[in-house]
Amino acid sequence: MSTIIRDPGEVAHWDEEVDVLVVGLGVAGAAAALEASGAGADTLVLERAGGGGGTSAMSGGVIYLGGGTALQKACGFEDSEEEMFKYLMASTGLAPDEKKIRLYCEGSVAHFDWLCDQGVPFKPTYYHGTSGEPPTDDGLVWSGAENAHPFNEIARPAPRGHVPEVEHQGGPLLMERLCAAVDASPARVAANHLCTALYQRSDGHVEGVAATAFGEERRIRARGGVILTTGGFVLNDDMLLKHAPLALRCGMRVAATGDDGSGIRLGVAAGGATIHMDSISISLPITQPWKLKRGILVNRQGQRFINEDTYYGRLGAAALLHNDGQAFLIVDDGVFEKPEYMEEVAGVGETPAELEKALALPAGSLQATLDLYNRHAEQGADPVFNKSPEYLEPLDRPPFGAFDCTTEKALYAVFTLGGLHTDCEGRVLDPEGDPISGLYAAGRSSSGIAVGGYSSGLSLGDGSFFGRRAGRSAIPG
Ligand SMILES: Cc1cc2nc3c(=O)[nH]c(=O)nc-3n(C[C@H](O)[C@H](O)[C@H](O)COP(=O)(O)OP(=O)(O)OC[C@H]3O[C@@H](n4cnc5c(N)ncnc54)[C@H](O)[C@@H]3O)c2cc1C
Repeated sequence: MSTIIRDPGEVAHWDEEVDVLVVGLGVAGAAAALEASGAGADTLVLERAGGGGGTSAMSGGVIYLGGGTALQKACGFEDSEEEMFKYLMASTGLAPDEKKIRLYCEGSVAHFDWLCDQGVPFKPTYYHGTSGEPPTDDGLVWSGAENAHPFNEIARPAPRGHVPEVEHQGGPLLMERLCAAVDASPARVAANHLCTALYQRSDGHVEGVAATAFGEERRIRARGGVILTTGGFVLNDDMLLKHAPLALRCGMRVAATGDDGSGIRLGVAAGGATIHMDSISISLPITQPWKLKRGILVNRQGQRFINEDTYYGRLGAAALLHNDGQAFLIVDDGVFEKPEYMEEVAGVGETPAELEKALALPAGSLQATLDLYNRHAEQGADPVFNKSPEYLEPLDRPPFGAFDCTTEKALYAVFTLGGLHTDCEGRVLDPEGDPISGLYAAGRSSSGIAVGGYSSGLSLGDGSFFGRRAGRSAIPG
């Protein structure tokens, strides 16, 4: 048996016994604790940091919801469960979890209302002009690739990014309000408690945890279940090397110190399976302001590889995973605008040939790409990648320039999406697909809805949504 799995039979005295034990107070842990305690369960949250928040409190605060939420309606947008379902099934990866996506779409309107009930404010105004966190306090934004090929032909587009009412970054406010709701609930929070081991009976049931607090070890028993909401593993180099090595090339691995995969490792030691561990969200916000979508993104071969008007998370994935993190955004004088999140100019030239030389691209490659692109753009078409006509115009006005979108120079922001395999109730599953009794997970310590294709807001969205379901399931029967 691993040292992080222990026999509860050896515990002579539990320091504490509760109904539901939540490990980690980010968005998923807060949602689990609120739901469990709200249903009358004696609930304790262990948090290794001095207070709650986790990476959720450092995030943009965008929450992906739809199907006709009160906010969407107030902003004049029509949406339906079915259109949201079609988009998520098509965009979240090669093996989308249909059951989770169905439930998420069905429960999305009510989940938005629940967030409002917890005191999270959303201003009923719409911001057009960026995908993801807006610079204003507007509540609704586009946060995925709904408007771009191929998704605009698969599902009727609607903005689904719901952002708490604060300028620039909604994560701190979201977590301030959710942690305040936890404080006001009967759930208790034990900060500075690092969960280090699980107690698991010989029949497989997880009965409690060991946690270190102020240099001492405490053993806590859960009558119902232990819920792991400890975040992802983007700060664990060994795990990244094993599962998602390209993430190590990303310059921005922003996360709370807890994102070291400890919960995933505890779950695995207890017999849990992991899934989609290679799946990462990679944001490459190079086409903000949106006018820059009129440029073209080329690789080291001088060739385009994606429709530039798509969501910046898809740009990042295409550049890093399929083009070795080597890309340049080519603009001419007509579409040039100062980017919001990018500074480095890789080269300039009076002609495409000069620019090609400055970038050390193969002779003729960029010229051929621009010839083809411009010929069709003149007709308002992009037969190669189907960029929307809204962003098509020939790039033929000198001077020409290239923004450096290589991993060495551009902002690649990454976090992990894979984790413990869970069912819709948050139960951790073993490699055979059977639940491990007493063990639950939610948020980025589990694999959620995005399993290879991301839209902003899905992580806070599914973390809080399935965190609530785990909180309910872990209540002793
Ligand atoms: C810059 C940035 C912006 C982002 N913006 C968005 C956005 O706008 N929308 C979106 O949906 N997603 C966004 N994300 C991703 C999102 O923030 C995270 O994926 C999400 O917050 C994970 O939530 P969580 O509850 O699973 O984990 P966390 O919020 O990280 O919470 C986990 C908690 O568990 C604690 N913990 C860890 N291990 C232990 C242990 N062993 N014992 C006790 N406690 C432990 C941690 O200290 C932490 O408090 C962003 C990420 C980054 C880096």
